[in-house]
Amino acid sequence: MNPPLEDVLHLSVFQKKALKKLGLETVFDLLYFFPTRYEKSLAEKVISQIEKDEEISVYGRLFNLDTGKTWKGRAPIARATLADQTGKIKILWLYQPYIAKMFRENSMVRVSGKVSERKGELSFINPKIEKVEEVPRTIFSENGAGPKFPLEPTYRETRGLSSRWFHFAVQKILKTSFLEKLEDPIPAEILKKYNLPSLKSSLIWIHLPKKESDYVAAKKRFAFQEIFFIQLQKQRERVEYEEKESFKIKKTLGDLSDFNKKLPFKLTSSQEKSVTNILDDFKKDYPMSRLLEGDVGSGKTAVAAIASYACITTPPPNNKYGELQVAYMAPTEILANQHFKTFIEIFSGLGIKIGLITGSGCKKFPSKVNPKESTVISKSQLLKWVANGEIPILIGTHALIEKSVTFKNLAFIIIDEQHRFGTKQRAKLRKKDGILPHLLSMTATPIPRTLALTIYGDLDLTLLDQMPAGRKPVITEVVSPKDRSETYEKIRRELAAGRQLYVICPRINEPDPEKEMALNVKSVTEEATRLQKEVFPEYEIGIMHSKLKKDEKEKVMESFVKNKIQVLCATSVVEVGVNVPNATMIIIEGAERFGLSQLHQLRGRVLRSSHQAHCYIFSDAKSGKSKDRLKAMTTAKNGFELAEIDLEQRGTGDLYGQKQWGISDLGMEAIKNIKMVEAARVEAREIIEEDPELSSPQHQPLKEIIEGQKDKYHFE
Ligand code: ADP
Ligand code: MG
Repeated sequence: MNPPLEDVLHLSVFQKKALKKLGLETVFDLLYFFPTRYEKSLAEKVISQIEKDEEISVYGRLFNLDTGKTWKGRAPIARATLADQTGKIKILWLYQPYIAKMFRENSMVRVSGKVSERKGELSFINPKIEKVEEVPRTIFSENGAGPKFPLEPTYRETRGLSSRWFHFAVQKILKTSFLEKLEDPIPAEILKKYNLPSLKSSLIWIHLPKKESDYVAAKKRFAFQEIFFIQLQKQRERVEYEEKESFKIKKTLGDLSDFNKKLPFKLTSSQEKSVTNILDDFKKDYPMSRLLEGDVGSGKTAVAAIASYACITTPPPNNKYGELQVAYMAPTEILANQHFKTFIEIFSGLGIKIGLITGSGCKKFPSKVNPKESTVISKSQLLKWVANGEIPILIGTHALIEKSVTFKNLAFIIIDEQHRFGTKQRAKLRKKDGILPHLLSMTATPIPRTLALTIYGDLDLTLLDQMPAGRKPVITEVVSPKDRSETYEKIRRELAAGRQLYVICPRINEPDPEKEMALNVKSVTEEATRLQKEVFPEYEIGIMHSKLKKDEKEKVMESFVKNKIQVLCATSVVEVGVNVPNATMIIIEGAERFGLSQLHQLRGRVLRSSHQAHCYIFSDAKSGKSKDRLKAMTTAKNGFELAEIDLEQRGTGDLYGQKQWGISDLGMEAIKNIKMVEAARVEAREIIEEDPELSSPQHQPLKEIIEGQKDKYHFE
């Protein structure tokens, strides 16, 4: 049904490799490798017949390839002569001298562009050029005839595979009986209802459109299809866990009031609402699957702690002794350690034991010697106490889901910054026990509503959309290059008052000068050196990025926490949610390179203190549009608003973390369209409600796809 490409196409070893590099192995892979854009095809002629000012394509061989400088000696150029049986024409490429090196003497090419004339001589200036295998025969019989495909698709090319190659390969496949046998997985009623073309038409229209409306309709279908398939998968997962038994935890907010009074602050009403949502879920017949979405600093940890308390003060079913257990998983050791500390503060004095497990070791609270402190213990000891239920709360990193970790009564899993965990990992944690634990995912990643509905379609959503009282919002300024030094002076005053500073740069190292088009943006290493030398010689400056070894990272972070380093130069990938209350300032360099939601997350790092926090967005954006976009950072109310603006203005490819989700650019286009997302959701739900296992014969193609895509999308 889906044969390997080499069974249907003649492929050289080199082409096979190139295809593999693009991840294209089967016929379907190729058919789902869509053009990135379309260009109007030009008429084709032989050289002797071309005329001044016309836009055409010509086939021929290249000669006299050469580089040089323009006449006035300024611009580097490439030159060549194109020849066919009928004549010759000169070609000139300004500012693209490398073209002369990309082609060999005597190679067969197609040149497309406008014909210029100077002093009676015709030439091409800056035309498009591509290598071809052979000259299409039609050109000699019907010279000047209109092109067969009025729109020429352009594909993401790689060495050895040009757009032309794709164009012909796809034509060849579409000519076989392959299409005839193709079953459309989307039920016909749905296609009709939303006026979407069939799979067969869509495949033809997206690769070989005759007119614009062809590929527009095809794209609409494929965008819908992607979201629809994701929704189906999510709805199915939902039904699956709704059939599972759960640990009943019957507590009300009132039952927990003594505990809540112990907290050093009064809960925001948003936090109360979130806790209530969770407590309601805890009572249901099936396990909770809830996502708590809240900006950095909105107080998710407290919500997690209260829910944990409700859990660990509930005895297991059929067992009067012991309590239910909680596992709290963080994406990094730094964060796991931080949560461990916070939980110790919150739970101190209640006689509740807390364990910590990370790759670097294990700890337990309280220590026998000092009941106010934690102590290092062996992993085997910790695991024993977790397995026999003596330790009700276990906090940790991925180490939590190792095989060796077993719980006696794991009833509740909390995952912080959930998008960093895969579905499989979640499943692993859940499977440890007979009964499926409740799940609370927490994230500060601001994403638009349509995206949340899609990728978290299996979860119930709670928004923590209120900041704790008394928190001063970060003062954000967009700083243009001329105000740089003034800003550094402002920062110096704050540093002198004992505060600390983050400096975020878009890259780790200096650009490689060998690489053409290397981006000229600030790097962590370079900027740290510069700041040390020229700007803040009186302070300690540290660096932090993903290429550092784990222990180096931890050392730097620890020095920063202890204020041994006052300025931390880092990339944007540095752990989200790290708590350094004394770091109240953040500079973001090359800000136009980041999405707004990402900038917002970066800014969230300085939201942890009672001191006034500042965010300085350094940008040398010249265009008004870029500047306006950054201005939103000073006006938008919260991360969700910024995520919506991101989606609207820059759209695809710019949402923080898109790569992690695995949604295609086309799928992201659909995410822009609330109607389409809702339609996909409604239809998917209807199908799953009617046929939860997708077992009816008419749903077989769908079932196959849903099962095949399980590992494709990584939403947690
Ligand atoms: P996040 O949602 O980013 O995980 P945290 O849970 O780390 O946020 O909370 C950020 C800070 O706010 C912590 O220092 C916490 O003690 C404090 N905090 C949480 N809730 C409240 C509240 N209701 N009032 C005041 N401070 C709070
Ligand atoms: Mg947090």
